[in-house]
Amino acid sequence: MAYHLKRGATLEAKATRNREVRDAVEKILEDIETRGDDAVRALSIRFDDWDRESFRLSAKEIQDCIDQLAAQDLKDIEFAQTQIRNFAQVQRDSMRDVEVETLPGVILGHKNVPVNAAGCYVPGGKYPLLASAHMSVITAKVAGVARVITCAPPFKGKPAPAIVAAQAMAGADEIYCLGGIQAVAAMGIGTASIAPVDILVGPGNAFVAEAKRQLFGRVGIDLFAGPTETLVIADEVGADAELCATDLLGQAEHGPDSPAVLLTTSEKLARETMAEIDRLLQILPTADYARKAWDSFGEVIVAESDAEMVTIANAIASEHVQVMTRDPDYFLANMTNYGALFLGARTNVAYGDKVIGTNHTLPTQKAARYTGGLWVGKFLKTCTYQKVTTDEASAMIGEYCSRLCALEGFAGHGEQANVRVRRYGGRNVPY
Ligand code: NAD
Repeated sequence: MAYHLKRGATLEAKATRNREVRDAVEKILEDIETRGDDAVRALSIRFDDWDRESFRLSAKEIQDCIDQLAAQDLKDIEFAQTQIRNFAQVQRDSMRDVEVETLPGVILGHKNVPVNAAGCYVPGGKYPLLASAHMSVITAKVAGVARVITCAPPFKGKPAPAIVAAQAMAGADEIYCLGGIQAVAAMGIGTASIAPVDILVGPGNAFVAEAKRQLFGRVGIDLFAGPTETLVIADEVGADAELCATDLLGQAEHGPDSPAVLLTTSEKLARETMAEIDRLLQILPTADYARKAWDSFGEVIVAESDAEMVTIANAIASEHVQVMTRDPDYFLANMTNYGALFLGARTNVAYGDKVIGTNHTLPTQKAARYTGGLWVGKFLKTCTYQKVTTDEASAMIGEYCSRLCALEGFAGHGEQANVRVRRYGGRNVPY
């Protein structure tokens, strides 16, 4: 039976925090709905101390940002974008349109149709998260979205050059320097200065994730992608305390509300990892965030077996799951709830976050129970169509349809079938 060596925040504490965020977002969305650009501007000043005549960056401003980066920076961004584009293209190619004759004269099919416009949020409050630009913009473009716009907050009082360069190099059609709820709402609802989009994508803090959630329905969203979470599953064969501690703190540094959980079959490894975390927190430059996250949300669980670890991990449904055990493939075969798996000590979440090619926008707060992460499929609508190519087929389907409509009491539907049975089958069907 598994036991905890360290527990994280209680469910009640998490629920209270979620409620506070939900209420704050609701009020702000109402304000933007009523006052449009004026509210967006006021909120940008309030939350980001940021105002300009237009939040959209000009071609010259974009080029200036690109010029500020070193040649190696640009090459590194290009390398990352190539990996992400290549994998997204393979995923796109795997999504075939289908057309099939299911009965003689009955043709059914579906087409994968891209949305017309996507709004990509690129987070930048605590760190200029340029990687999110690759993840959203490139994936949208590979899916075939015609208009891809991006918003990122100012970083240290101005547009972050690396984010702007990554957005431009990824192929964004409009680039805005605007953050938080006001950015998400401006793209989703639309204002006088920003035309609305059909889908909002990209990660963000609790406010950004909640704003997307509340706008869903009015506009599409990719998934619930809030503050980062990580789960490290390890045993003494697959890992040591240095790897476990580094991988936990590497994600806890995202922010004070980022859960990091160690799940292991070894109490010895668990205790050594906790000691190593204490040591690393003395020297990690981002320890301020990481310590808060570890103190409030860090958990250490000791389980009896791999099978028990799978059960616990599926219940946690973490965004990232790093597996460093004797047999990582066992977890690939048996886990069902996760945003992304990182199998074996040779890879890790940072590779996936920044460069390796899989998408880093991933489900949080147990959304991994019902969705995977962002990918080309999120920008595509799988739309069905049908054709009936012979009179016989129309009359034959019509008779089934007529009887099924009668069972439901749908006279109007029934007559849609009956008129065709009469016309194409020459058979009289009563009203
Ligand atoms: P962010 O861009 O998401 O948020 C910054 C904005 O939040 C600011 O521009 C401001 O307008 C707004 N804001 C700040 N305080 C506010 C308040 N009290 N009320 C209303 N609005 C407020 O940047 P961030 O804060 O650094 O967060 C980035 C987040 O993205 C992190 O939590 C990180 O873990 C998460 N992330 C998630 C994934 C994923 O796939 N799930 C991937 C990468 C990053």
